[in-house]
Amino acid sequence: MLIVQDPLFKKHRTPDGHPERPARAGALDAVLEDAARRSGAALERARAASDEELQRVHAQAYVERIKRFCAEGGGALDADTHAVAESFEVARHAAGAAIQLVEYLLEGRGRAGFAAVRPPGHHAGPDYPMGFCLFNNVAVAAAHACAKSPAARVLIVDWDAHHGNGTQDIFYERAEVFFLSMHQFPFWPGTGAASETGRGAGRGTTLNVPLPAGTPRERIRAAFREALDRVAEVFEPTLVLVSAGFDMHRLDPLGGQTLEAEDFGGMTRELWERFVLKGAAGMASCLEGATTWRV
Ligand SMILES: [Zn+2]
Repeated sequence: MLIVQDPLFKKHRTPDGHPERPARAGALDAVLEDAARRSGAALERARAASDEELQRVHAQAYVERIKRFCAEGGGALDADTHAVAESFEVARHAAGAAIQLVEYLLEGRGRAGFAAVRPPGHHAGPDYPMGFCLFNNVAVAAAHACAKSPAARVLIVDWDAHHGNGTQDIFYERAEVFFLSMHQFPFWPGTGAASETGRGAGRGTTLNVPLPAGTPRERIRAAFREALDRVAEVFEPTLVLVSAGFDMHRLDPLGGQTLEAEDFGGMTRELWERFVLKGAAGMASCLEGATTWRV
């Protein structure tokens, strides 16, 4: 297993009181180092994604806009999304960390990975920042896998409490990437209705599982298993990527859901058994939104 972790991720600073703050990365340092020691997982620093790698999913003008915005000192991109001078470099390393996981799996060095990145990525679309996100880390990683192999079929599973609108937008018309999102609904950002299923060549490769606030955890777990059944009927992934937000945890101050820590482990195991043990090269998770009550 590979764990990607980098002190650089603390250099993307947000205004005081912002839920997506550098302390989130700090809170994971000791936990991940301990996990690596106990499990024998490899620990690596992040590499930067190149402009070309970012531009597989983002418009060139958008990448240049973020680069210039940060070079000029940064500020507020919208009411939620902020950048400082260092943020462009940090964000390109977050996307690079996700690519590193994919390369690790594709090279057969191991079958599982986790990247403790920030800023998160799943709200960033082809040409817009949104919801704390600058570049869409998981999307950049999925596009990397597709660029390396025309036979790649990537399943992205997003269980963050917020709909992964950016990831959906990027792959909405593409058949080689299946996007499964389970999220609170109605809830910010407002997208992710069950009727959103893809378009054109991508019809049927987007599956949204909207959950009302306060859905009992057993119901969430059952909905997840049913969704995996539906994915397995139509899609055989060669790679599984997880947009791993943890804000469906019952203690999360932003989400309104009921999951316990063990549920995230359970869902990870279900994905593993369903797809990795059935032929996918491996599975890797990228941090998205997370519980902030302790930091
Ligand atoms: Zn979230």
